[in-house]
Amino acid sequence: MGMPIYLVRLPVFLALLFSSAGSPVYAQTSTAPLELVVLGSGGPGATGRAAASYLVLIAGIPRILVDAGPGAFARLGEAKLSLAKVDIVLLTHLHIDHAGELPGLFKARAVSSSDPIVFKVWGPEGSHGQNHGANFSSTSRFLHLLFGPNGAFAYLSDFSAPMTLQAHDLPAQLSATAVPNIIFRQGGVAISAIAGHHGDAPAVIYRIECAGRSVTFSGDIDAEGLPNLRSIAKNSDLLVFNSVVLDPPNSPPVLYTLHTPPHDIGKLAKEAGVRRLLLSHLSPATEEMHDGVLKSIHENYTGPVSLAEDGMRVQP
Ligand SMILES: [Zn+2]
Repeated sequence: MGMPIYLVRLPVFLALLFSSAGSPVYAQTSTAPLELVVLGSGGPGATGRAAASYLVLIAGIPRILVDAGPGAFARLGEAKLSLAKVDIVLLTHLHIDHAGELPGLFKARAVSSSDPIVFKVWGPEGSHGQNHGANFSSTSRFLHLLFGPNGAFAYLSDFSAPMTLQAHDLPAQLSATAVPNIIFRQGGVAISAIAGHHGDAPAVIYRIECAGRSVTFSGDIDAEGLPNLRSIAKNSDLLVFNSVVLDPPNSPPVLYTLHTPPHDIGKLAKEAGVRRLLLSHLSPATEEMHDGVLKSIHENYTGPVSLAEDGMRVQP
């Protein structure tokens, strides 16, 4: 006797249960060519903000996920947005506060539709603990460990919808000759990338452009990565800058090997000629001292500066 039909049909049933026939659904609330939705504006600490994650909407439709920090899953539902049309994922680096929610978000995508899913995922190449640093998986190995045939969540490849992952490992070593590289161009959307620098964690900076508007994501970045950020962020309409530390000496010294202080954020924003600055990945110190942080940034940068909030929507 064959398997009862209701078991065979379980994936389809799940897709129906969680698809746009139910809720939450897919809300098209704007037709701006490019819009940013902040899913997570926090960092690694459980401070009430979700960790780093953003959705980029093209003509009102969520298309690109940038980072996948813990908490983004809940914020996605609160925003009443769906991942049903998201097939591009950009990971700035593979620290948990930027990549830990990927399984939850991929499963949310899987149950939003029974159609085949092809995720194109870009992220940094791996490293092997150079200069006494930690080992980091490449993005392709990271995905393989999670979702590959012997991965922790191997079942997801054919759970509710057949899911294929196309992983792209991007160069993450600084080099004096590096220039931003176009990694994706289709339907009026162009995405470029260049190596960033975040201590020992391989890191990538991304810029997304559509219809003459642009947004750049610094990722977590220290002083060594700033020349590349200056180059890729040139004349961006919006620069999302991860802000963690106060100006020296007011934060623990080790944090200056990982992050950029406000004075240097303002200098970079001015030099790159960005139109607007959004501070995100906010630490409790940045929140508490925000007046001083903004004052320090404005010593060099005269454009508008805002602090991100979960759920915030910005049209660059
Ligand atoms: Zn971080």
